[in-house]
Amino acid sequence: MSRTSVAALLVLSVAGLVHAQPRVADLGGGIYMAGLEGLSGNDIRIPQSNTFMVATTDGVVIIDTSLTAAPAHKKALTAISSAPVRAIILTHAHGDHTGGIALWKQPATQVIAHRLYPEFIEYTDRLGGYFARMNAAQFGGGLALGAPAGRGAAARATSPRPDVLFDRTHTLDVGTTRFEILHTPGETPDHLTVWIPSLKAAFIGDNYYESFPNLYTLRGTRPRWALDYVASLNRVLALEPELVLPSHGATIRGRDEIRRRLTRYRDAIQYVHDATVKGMNEGKDVDTLMKEITLPPDLDVGESYGRVSWSVRGIYDGYVGWYDGNVSTMFGTPGQAYPAVVALAGGPDAVAARAVALAATEPTTALYLTDMALAADPRHRGALQARVRALQMLLESSKNSNERGWLAAGLRAAEQKLK
Ligand SMILES: [Zn+2]
Repeated sequence: MSRTSVAALLVLSVAGLVHAQPRVADLGGGIYMAGLEGLSGNDIRIPQSNTFMVATTDGVVIIDTSLTAAPAHKKALTAISSAPVRAIILTHAHGDHTGGIALWKQPATQVIAHRLYPEFIEYTDRLGGYFARMNAAQFGGGLALGAPAGRGAAARATSPRPDVLFDRTHTLDVGTTRFEILHTPGETPDHLTVWIPSLKAAFIGDNYYESFPNLYTLRGTRPRWALDYVASLNRVLALEPELVLPSHGATIRGRDEIRRRLTRYRDAIQYVHDATVKGMNEGKDVDTLMKEITLPPDLDVGESYGRVSWSVRGIYDGYVGWYDGNVSTMFGTPGQAYPAVVALAGGPDAVAARAVALAATEPTTALYLTDMALAADPRHRGALQARVRALQMLLESSKNSNERGWLAAGLRAAEQKLK
């Protein structure tokens, strides 16, 4: 959505909410959106979904529920309508969309999700310790905002389970409003899109946002299939929506604008997928393809959240796994040889000095050198200082929020060891 059309939205101030409160956008047709991000441009750094409320002639339907912002979203939306909540529809099982279910659910409320939703919850719960650690690093600050995906089992145990699971499509009539719910895998295998035919409105969840998608997320994920995204975006495009409501960021209006943006997004994903597969078949290794594959200008959708290079690796590894055909890879990683290389180079002091010299001009090379020096001496102060400098340099130039999260986490870890 353009800035002017954002400004044209009726923005309702909700009494009683004093700080960082969500503003509620009246999107027309009975659709209301609460989101910390949705009205301030296209910022999707905060791992919180928008919460949508659709008012019908017989109660409201909630689509996605956010996480730590959920109480504020609920307060703001309930100030507009306190009608019974007939259904909660979850676009997918990530915690930043499901955290507020218990707040909204009333005894007669139907919670609706795709049939793969429970399996996805089980997967994230099984790896709860892993994801808690990785989320805390990626999203920083011990994750005061909460873990967007893979919360601990305890948090999940208190979250109500869906009442309705469907396979390909599900139709829900509430009052005079029809909701058609379509399975549209992409961000997750259980991902769905909610389509309101009478409003030509598609709630597209996380299959579209203002950046190349996180086909691979650094906190860890099973493969997110590029071709699923392509098929799901085609399914939404075929509806010819006039309103597309992503769960992060701003709404898109107008059939032509929607067609243009979703088509470009789809084509960018298809391009990266096809270039990766072509390179694999030509015998190129993953490192080469991560460097070689970039989006052509007409498909450049930005990389403020997902990164093309990580997606290339995600697609590559998703198809064939970790073995690269190099016989030494069968026995582990090159790190085993670092202490021997550092000794040959004159010891950790010499390697750390070289890292310091390169920190400003070749920060990633400097970073790898500190890996080597620290493999020989994990508390080497010169190597840790060089690491801090290299990470600061990378942080200053990074425009990707996930990358910045990890650079900041690496910086904290190195500074901690220097204390
Ligand atoms: Zn999300």
